[in-house]
Amino acid sequence: MEIAPGVHSIPAGIDAYMGFFAPKVYLVVGREGALIDSGYGDEGSFNSRIDYVKGFAGLRLAYIVITHAHHDHIGGAARLKEETGAQIILHSAERAAILADRVVEDGDTLDIGLQVIHTPGHSPGHICIYMKEEGILFSGDQVLGMSTTAIRPPAGDMAQYIDSLRKLRNYDIGMICPGHGPPIREPKRKLEELIQHRLEREEQVITGLRQGKATVKELVAEIYPELGRHLYEAAKGQVLAHLIKLEREGKVSSLGCEEDACYTII
Ligand SMILES: [Zn+2]
Repeated sequence: MEIAPGVHSIPAGIDAYMGFFAPKVYLVVGREGALIDSGYGDEGSFNSRIDYVKGFAGLRLAYIVITHAHHDHIGGAARLKEETGAQIILHSAERAAILADRVVEDGDTLDIGLQVIHTPGHSPGHICIYMKEEGILFSGDQVLGMSTTAIRPPAGDMAQYIDSLRKLRNYDIGMICPGHGPPIREPKRKLEELIQHRLEREEQVITGLRQGKATVKELVAEIYPELGRHLYEAAKGQVLAHLIKLEREGKVSSLGCEEDACYTII
């Protein structure tokens, strides 16, 4: 489906883990083509992607640009490369950078007009891809079309994540194409909301510590009182990510408890 001139969102396969939360794969069609992320590597999603690309007769796929190396974004990359000869592009700080045909850094431009913006936080080598003239940003998991991104230490870093959101405010963006969920048509407002949301969470962590909560478990129970079991680990990761940020800023200190990380306000 063409969502902007030359920018296509490729439909997901029919597998069980597809649907609303499915990873989004985009195809940029210019003189050559580039995929932004590759989705899962299973037969169904691979076929739907390759068929879509082959629908453009004569289009040479030059790049498979991976925003970050989580399996729902990089899973299909090797097979897509095999089939098309495209180069896999990853940031040098990403743990799977060894799989890349070319590693990139912040500010690099691929010759079909895609600019790399390093946005660490969700993962160390996470990148967003910017089409300057069109004002389009492919945001991977830095900004999602629904819900909030998981920041799980040690690979996830809350301070970096918030800094990366702030960094994106410096770009002239008209539309964000996220790694999950629908396109975002009010990018400025979305970025502000996300920054605010994280800062509010941080305040809740500080308030919890002031009230005598010390462990991550106690803080999670306080901040997310109605949390379902399946989301518990994710919530723990977010709270821990805030605590690590606050510790680095000299606002809290770790008490070095063994069972469950525990902290005190300074
Ligand atoms: Zn991810």
